[in-house]
Amino acid sequence: MYRQGANPDFSTVSVSKLRSIAFSAQAMLRCGKHAGRPFADVAATDAGYCAWVLREKQEGRRLSRDLKAFASYIQEVHGGVLVVGRHSGRFFADVLRDDPDYGEWAASLENPGKLMIGFHEYVKKRQRRRAREANGDTCSICLDRTLDSAFIPCGHQTACLDCALRLAGGPCPICREPIADVLQTFLAAASSSIP
Ligand SMILES: [Zn+2]
Ligand SMILES: [Zn+2]
Repeated sequence: MYRQGANPDFSTVSVSKLRSIAFSAQAMLRCGKHAGRPFADVAATDAGYCAWVLREKQEGRRLSRDLKAFASYIQEVHGGVLVVGRHSGRFFADVLRDDPDYGEWAASLENPGKLMIGFHEYVKKRQRRRAREANGDTCSICLDRTLDSAFIPCGHQTACLDCALRLAGGPCPICREPIADVLQTFLAAASSSIP
């Protein structure tokens, strides 16, 4: 059913995501003070401008198409820009990498407030993902959805159903045996949530 020819878009989610990030990094701003410069270049040199674009987007202002794309690029690659505290003007991803204690603190805030809420949610999301990875029930391809499939015939369980169906027809990422079909699986732990 999931033979190779039937799946022309054969690529893993993470690879296609990386490709789209690499593609948008080369995209150029067409307006404003950085017109004619690539996204990656502007992000590397003007965090204040990134913060401004993200704020405009958050507040629902009308943005040109390339500014919208630029805002998505910043969120995808850097998470966002801190606009308060000792790391003000720095990207979320950089702050979390360099000062994990600050991230823990931001995530623990009961009432993060308008200026801190973005970073607060960014760290919390990563903490949830880490917890799920530690449980071993996260798809190793998209690192996002729950692991709920097995490859046939090798039986390896490493992907969510969506990713498994994309991989079908190609080799198993663990043992390289061709994936002839995909089975949906149900973790025993999931049944404990049924009342
Ligand atoms: Zn997946
Ligand atoms: Zn396998």
